[in-house]
Amino acid sequence: VQGVENQTIAVLGLGRSGRATAAALAAGGANVVVWDDGVDTREQAAAEGMTVLDLTRDQSWEGVSALITSPGIPHLYPRPHPVIAKAYELGVPVDNDIGLFFRSFATRDWDQFDTAPRVIAITGSNGKSTTTALIHHILKEAGRPTQIGGNIGTGVLSLEPAHDGEVIVLELSSYQTDLARALTPDIAVFTNLSPDHLDRHGGPGGYFAAKRRLFAEGGPDRAVIGVDEAEGRYLANQLGMGPADDRVIRVSSGQKLEGFGWSVFARKGFLSEYRKGRQVASIDLREVTGLPGEHNHQNACAAYAAARSVGIAPREIERAFHSFAGLPHRSQTVAEIGGVRWVNDSKATNVDAAAKALNAFTNIRWIAGGMGKEGGIEALGPHLGQVVKAYLIGHSARDFALQIGQTPYEIAETMEQAVARAREEAQPGDTVLLAPAAASFDQYPNFEKRGEHFTQLVNTLKD
Ligand code: ADP
Repeated sequence: VQGVENQTIAVLGLGRSGRATAAALAAGGANVVVWDDGVDTREQAAAEGMTVLDLTRDQSWEGVSALITSPGIPHLYPRPHPVIAKAYELGVPVDNDIGLFFRSFATRDWDQFDTAPRVIAITGSNGKSTTTALIHHILKEAGRPTQIGGNIGTGVLSLEPAHDGEVIVLELSSYQTDLARALTPDIAVFTNLSPDHLDRHGGPGGYFAAKRRLFAEGGPDRAVIGVDEAEGRYLANQLGMGPADDRVIRVSSGQKLEGFGWSVFARKGFLSEYRKGRQVASIDLREVTGLPGEHNHQNACAAYAAARSVGIAPREIERAFHSFAGLPHRSQTVAEIGGVRWVNDSKATNVDAAAKALNAFTNIRWIAGGMGKEGGIEALGPHLGQVVKAYLIGHSARDFALQIGQTPYEIAETMEQAVARAREEAQPGDTVLLAPAAASFDQYPNFEKRGEHFTQLVNTLKD
């Protein structure tokens, strides 16, 4: 971190990001003081030589020029953490690692503007990780130096110093954009908006405002905006100097967007790029196995637009689509055995996500169940048309059986049994899909472990 030399900076919260922040500030020459609500964490920090100061007390703030907080700590809703409240009271600026990153990135003196590193930041309710990973993959495949981080993988302050020509791709959640005092990506991507995390932001208005901060006045050179919801359309209209402006690239899965300065959309399995009313490229997405389903076509369009913004050619992007393996546990094809495709979407812990996965495939043998959520899965009814049979596991197996209408099913109880039975019954052309529509806690520590177990079991079928 640059520009913090000899300043006293307080860090609240010593999780992974808090620790990385404290280390980066110390490396930049700041005097770092830390606080965490956990007694053990504080003792550990003190044992490691950090200066632990009780920031709930006024006298600890003598000379402190900023407070850096972590994404999980509430700063407004339902009420500010006491240490953040103290900072507000004393007029000490509150920031986070993202703000520090952009501040020190922007103050660097790049001599060659054309080759200066670029930052692409991705936000939105769904598809952030996939879009971020896909952009990174495209750049890598095209031979551009690139790093990925933020809410995915490496924290922003643990990234390597950027080099000329490099593109840094950052996933940013609303928990990070809501507070950062500097947010100046060169290219900002907004995937979509659905109600999520409303508590922290005090309702839908606050949630949209947190995401919107990435597109503030004097913001990105280019904005890639998903316009399938009213909020995205509003944002695009507000940012663009009229529809012909190509500072905004509008993105959709489903809508034809031809009459704009620049747009990318997917319809019926084809991605199209339009500039000033003319089609300039088209890509067949139907055989792109790493990006199945309409929701992934939206991610593909957003990633395509971001990659075009840094000068990657359509053919190179198309090639990279085909080599994209998908993120683990998100509609990830883990094997093709005897004409049967095995797909791990263990991340589908709720009805919405499971619906997306179920819409993405045909002739489905569906492995579902676990720790069911309130409301059950009756809402999945319209999405079960392609399900040949359900293999129900876990705590919710019997409840789910009552909620899936006429869909054939059997109670398999365990993942082992579900995989074995699906293996016996699947026909060439079928897809065996793990999309549980339930949390994993009855049988696994987390959804990742559940997906890994499924993948392991499938791998043993290959021999
Ligand atoms: P995020 O990082 O925003 O949570 P991910 O890329 O990790 O998003 O995807 C999480 C889940 O959200 C996926 O398993 C899928 O079910 C769903 N999803 C992915 N992309 C989209 C999208 N563009 N629109 C709606 N849902 C999506």
